[in-house]
Amino acid sequence: QGKNNLRPRFLRCLSSTMSSSTQPPRVPNLIGGSFVDSQASSHIDVINPATQEVVSQVPLTTNEEFKAAVSAAKKAFPSWRNTPITTRQRVMLKFQELIRKNMDKLALNITTEQGKTLKDAHGDIFRGLEVVEHACGMATLQMGEYVPNVSNGVDTYSVREPLGVCAGICPFNFPAMIPLWMFPIAVTCGNTFVLKPSEKDPGASVMLAELAMEAGLPNGVLNIVHGTNDTVNAICDDDDIRAVSFVGSNTAGMHIYARAAAKGKRIQSNMGAKNHGVVLPDANVDATLNALLAAGFGAAGQRCMALSTVVFVGNSKSWEDKLVERAKALKVTCGTEPDADLGPVISKQAKERICRLIQSGVDDGAKLLLDGRNIVVPGYEKGNFIGPTILSGVTPDMECYKEEIFGPVLVCMEASSFDEAIDILNRNKYGNGAAIFTASGAAARKFQMEIEAGQIGINVPIPVPLPFFSFTGNKASFAGDLNFYGKAGVDFFTQIKTVTQQWKDIPTSVSLAMPTSQ
Ligand code: NAD
Repeated sequence: QGKNNLRPRFLRCLSSTMSSSTQPPRVPNLIGGSFVDSQASSHIDVINPATQEVVSQVPLTTNEEFKAAVSAAKKAFPSWRNTPITTRQRVMLKFQELIRKNMDKLALNITTEQGKTLKDAHGDIFRGLEVVEHACGMATLQMGEYVPNVSNGVDTYSVREPLGVCAGICPFNFPAMIPLWMFPIAVTCGNTFVLKPSEKDPGASVMLAELAMEAGLPNGVLNIVHGTNDTVNAICDDDDIRAVSFVGSNTAGMHIYARAAAKGKRIQSNMGAKNHGVVLPDANVDATLNALLAAGFGAAGQRCMALSTVVFVGNSKSWEDKLVERAKALKVTCGTEPDADLGPVISKQAKERICRLIQSGVDDGAKLLLDGRNIVVPGYEKGNFIGPTILSGVTPDMECYKEEIFGPVLVCMEASSFDEAIDILNRNKYGNGAAIFTASGAAARKFQMEIEAGQIGINVPIPVPLPFFSFTGNKASFAGDLNFYGKAGVDFFTQIKTVTQQWKDIPTSVSLAMPTSQ
């Protein structure tokens, strides 16, 4: 029951932009190559944050279904790992082509479920697409090492082999990019995969999986199970899952890191952030203000690399007024509107939390230069909108500084010297990204050398690395030791086997001493 090889109603609804049906479709799991309706007794509504319409319903997958997904992945592994690497690369080559062809449909789904503007949704897909393109060169990325003649007639070489069944657990804020950070690298290395999308916006993952299957990914290589904490815990505990890739909050990330490690799994856990932009008085005013607006308010501040904190050094503080004027001009509306600059935040609860943190800033003595809390968006009065908000005179002891706000709120601080600014940044517990705006090479170099953050931008506000490098959070922003994508991503999804071979004429004498390379 529920199992079929036809396109389930959810996928058909997606193709017709989800407007043709009165009942919200149920989001299917993907198990062993079939999109199947879950037999779950509970479902969660996926809600359009701009309208509150129920877009679809996502199941709390049953334990039997979860086990079936892992077992399908386990069954698919032996033949997939033995499939030539060139064939696996070609699946990715076709996959990237299909993503490009379906970009508009994917973007519309992302905007409908997540709220970001259509243009931003295209960026979300494109940054994931780049990882798929990168995976097309996996043979080179996965190459081993070889040293001939380590001893007489003896050579040693190492090969990178896949691990087996791997899993990925995703956040809501990049419904396409983050799943694409995970499974394309994992499966092209020869692993099979179980993906758990965010329960808030699972549509893009399902669409991407459908495209991956169309590109030639064999049944069982990629599986999808939906759900929340129970599904995540099942992933952490399952003995057949060898590695877990996680992106999301620190609460979930540290829990997963501890629980999955207790079962001997590899984990890469990308977590929260408080990214600072340091503004030196010699920076270009226009370019800097535009960068601060884009990186502070883009995606309604719901990016892990959002520049949510500005540290004005010396008299660059006088630029605050201009920043406020420009922020006021940004258009807040539903992401499908052509002139939208920022859309809603993900949920009513998120809006309440953000508004509470803004108020805490005011109560703690910060100055509210721009207040977006009471915005009403014509035509979308029920949406979870918050307009650009700017708090000034914030100090490190305030809750609005210590907490990741994850909304369209710029927290402004002051430092009397560059050294003081560096000190503020390094005392923050997070270390995802940091940017400096300056015309001084010496200052930029000092910043790069002294700041404890994974991604440094020099006159670049959101320095998310392209896939030939890795995404490299530090401190509380990352747990694990092998980062996402780039060389580290391939290392994460492979293990090394070292082979020592001897080919020489048969020795005539016997020695029981420990072999040495002489
Ligand atoms: P979240 O932690 O609430 O959810 C992420 C995933 O974990 C979801 O799939 C969810 O079902 C699961 N989950 C949530 N709570 C859980 C729990 N207690 N036990 C087990 N599983 C749980 O995160 P979110 O709100 O979806 O995403 C926003 C967060 O993600 C922000 O903190 C943001 O900075 C972070 N993020 C980080 C990066 C990065 O690369 N560092 C990228 C994107 C987002």
